[in-house]
Amino acid sequence: MKEIIVIGGGPAGLMASITAAEGGGRVMILEKNSEAGRKILSTGNGRCNFTNRHMDACCYNTDDRKRMMAVIDAFGNEALIDFFRDLGVMTTERDGWCYPASLSAESIQLALISRAERLGVKIKGGKTVRAIRKKTNRFLVDTDGYSYESDAVILSTGGLAAPGSGSSGDGFSFLSELGVGLIDPSPALVPLVTEDSFLKKASGVRVDAGLTLLIEGKEAGSSYGNLQITDFGISGIPVFQLSSKAVRALDQGKDVEIAVDLLPEIDESAIYEYMQMAAESLKETDMTWLLVSGFFPRKLAKALMGKSMTIGEWDGRPPRTRGIVLRIKGSKGFGSAQTTSGGVPFSELSCDLSIKGIPGLFVCGEIVDVDGICGGYNLQWAFSSGHAAGKGVL
Ligand SMILES: Cc1cc2nc3c(=O)[nH]c(=O)nc-3n(C[C@H](O)[C@H](O)[C@H](O)COP(=O)(O)OP(=O)(O)OC[C@H]3O[C@@H](n4cnc5c(N)ncnc54)[C@H](O)[C@@H]3O)c2cc1C
Repeated sequence: MKEIIVIGGGPAGLMASITAAEGGGRVMILEKNSEAGRKILSTGNGRCNFTNRHMDACCYNTDDRKRMMAVIDAFGNEALIDFFRDLGVMTTERDGWCYPASLSAESIQLALISRAERLGVKIKGGKTVRAIRKKTNRFLVDTDGYSYESDAVILSTGGLAAPGSGSSGDGFSFLSELGVGLIDPSPALVPLVTEDSFLKKASGVRVDAGLTLLIEGKEAGSSYGNLQITDFGISGIPVFQLSSKAVRALDQGKDVEIAVDLLPEIDESAIYEYMQMAAESLKETDMTWLLVSGFFPRKLAKALMGKSMTIGEWDGRPPRTRGIVLRIKGSKGFGSAQTTSGGVPFSELSCDLSIKGIPGLFVCGEIVDVDGICGGYNLQWAFSSGHAAGKGVL
């Protein structure tokens, strides 16, 4: 019976363990935290958006979309929904975003742990791995005070996002020591820091908006959703969706901007006509109030007008609501990120997700150079790649 050590008991490591144990492997998980799958509990605001009905390569950033999709297609969204149903976890969905019907991430965490334990997987919590060593055809895995031995190792230590949950980049260090080439990791699904802009005066406001990412002045992506205006810049799902590309471009020294359309479905001229019409018919003289009553929260209306003003002070021009260009300076970093861009490129991997030139060493999950947009794509990748590594290791 093949002895397999899985380093890191997140969603990828748990799925890899289950698949390997189902195939007859003897599996042990070494997990830094006292319990496995702790990060799962904070996903989807505690509800765990574990996959999406719409699965497409364009929902991911990676160095090799074709090979990434081959891994996802082998254990895709429908297979994952069936897998959880077979464990007693029903699915509910909103606009294709899939959650456990309990709307509690704990359902997913516990289903994975109990399936693994029923298959005989030993989950050792509170074990931080310090090094991986190759010893002829075996591996030595060093923890504080004890060295474990196995035929194969699956490395699923995650990336650098949300380091408080245990994933602090240890896997990248182990791989670098073994001579594996990595793409520099950077934060993804992360709030963005902007240069000073009048919009910061509306800090705290949330508003539905359309965003366009501009890299060196050229359109590089767009998104729509609930924008959060903050004192440092911008946040919220539409910002996260563009953040991976934005941060990568900044790392390459490129100019990055985001153009904000506050009312993409309404023309600025329509806002102007409304203000004129309402000023006449309502006999209202406070122009900021007209913007508030018609379209925006007061703080944002004031930021758009420059200040509170009466009709007498108004220059008769519509406030700027479209193409508000924000210059992006950086991101809020790994501490505020939901995932990691970069990591192990597919060029270092065989089709079964083993490292080329190191037989028996596999990787899966966030450690691989795959990052998805919001909507369940990152957990789907963790589960699909965990499944691939768990099969490949046997
Ligand atoms: C706040 C938040 C919300 C999110 N929401 C969603 C969502 O709704 N949908 C979605 O698809 N994705 C979401 N994500 C992303 C998703 O959680 C990750 O993509 C996923 O957890 C990655 O799985 P993983 O198993 O590769 O890594 P991780 O989940 O990071 O697991 C890695 C594990 O390895 C352990 N470990 C690390 N180093 C060592 C070591 N040296 N020794 C032993 N153990 C070690 C860690 O403690 C950890 O348990 C969210 C992320 C965050 C932070």
